[in-house]
Amino acid sequence: MRSRSAIPNPKSQTVRPDLRGCSLSGLETLVVAAGEPRYRGRQLFKWIHNRGASSFEEMTDLPKAFRVRAAEVFGIESLVVAETRLSSDGTIKYRMDTGRGDFVESVYMPSARRDTLCVSTQVGCAMGCAFCLTGAMRLGRDLSAGEIVDQVRTVAVDLRARLHHGGEGPRPPHRRYVSNVVFMGMGEPLKNFEATRDAVAVLTHPDALGFSTRHVTVSTCGLVPEILRFGREVTAKLAVSLNAADDETRSRLMPINKKYPLADLLSALKRFPLKPGWRITFEYVLLAGVNDSVTDARRLVKILSGIPSKVNLIVFNAHPAADFKAPTPEAVAAFHKVLTDKNLSAFVRENRGGDVAAACGQLGRVRDEG
Ligand code: SF4
Repeated sequence: MRSRSAIPNPKSQTVRPDLRGCSLSGLETLVVAAGEPRYRGRQLFKWIHNRGASSFEEMTDLPKAFRVRAAEVFGIESLVVAETRLSSDGTIKYRMDTGRGDFVESVYMPSARRDTLCVSTQVGCAMGCAFCLTGAMRLGRDLSAGEIVDQVRTVAVDLRARLHHGGEGPRPPHRRYVSNVVFMGMGEPLKNFEATRDAVAVLTHPDALGFSTRHVTVSTCGLVPEILRFGREVTAKLAVSLNAADDETRSRLMPINKKYPLADLLSALKRFPLKPGWRITFEYVLLAGVNDSVTDARRLVKILSGIPSKVNLIVFNAHPAADFKAPTPEAVAAFHKVLTDKNLSAFVRENRGGDVAAACGQLGRVRDEG
């Protein structure tokens, strides 16, 4: 099912600081610089993220004069839903207008145990992974921290309207609709490091969206220096898009492997500071005849030895920009068995939203899908 909104995004290019992506300390700094007391920063922070305000007018317990002044010097920018596509499995693909002449996509995946939102960090991507439609788009631009955070708010507001007859009445917290956030949409999050770091901080701050750090996962294709920086500066789970267990195959699939080969990547991951009980998630897209043999599986077990790991096996989702094929169910089962027989925690991930081009590697458009 597809629905299109005829409402244009009214946001225009602005030089006013967008408060949506500001950390608490950043917001306090901004209000002090504008001649207001520091505590107003925390009030704004709570109103925007905890109470879901999208305008200063709504902040009725703040003095009127302050609200008028704030609206003059600050902005609260919002994404606007341009299109939604509902899959037969309940997955919803969102296409949102940034108001800057481009679009960002997010995917909502409800299940019995969790309701996950996959967010984007860039418009397009420069990493050029051979199996990925977003990579074929090339990079448009980095998203701001506010644009990353706002994907969660925008989807939660839309879900509230779908589930509660137009969304009237008190606003439940966003976490009622979205329990987990994964940074696995369009773009390489660690190539947009500062915005990703700041967005995670806002998502997990108790006065903002209040997600548990265990429920926020950032995925990377393997940027070694940024992985080490992530370990120092960000508290969230780490996922690595691996997709091959030898350099020759991985370099063919993921050009980044030529810069940071497997030995460097795995060495960085062995040093990565994990909280007690946490593991690194490895994403492995299975491609028929490329990386899906029992030999590949054995190699994978070997290279992950010594790293607390969880492996997600993803059956390739076909799209027009790549020639790969999905492996047979027998090949997937045999690959999975090699991993679990060696006590590696491994799951064949359910293919979500494939009928609406919302599955892994299918985000973005290289041409209009009509
Ligand atoms: S898989 Fe991720 S890093 Fe690779 S091209 Fe696609 S979006 Fe970029």
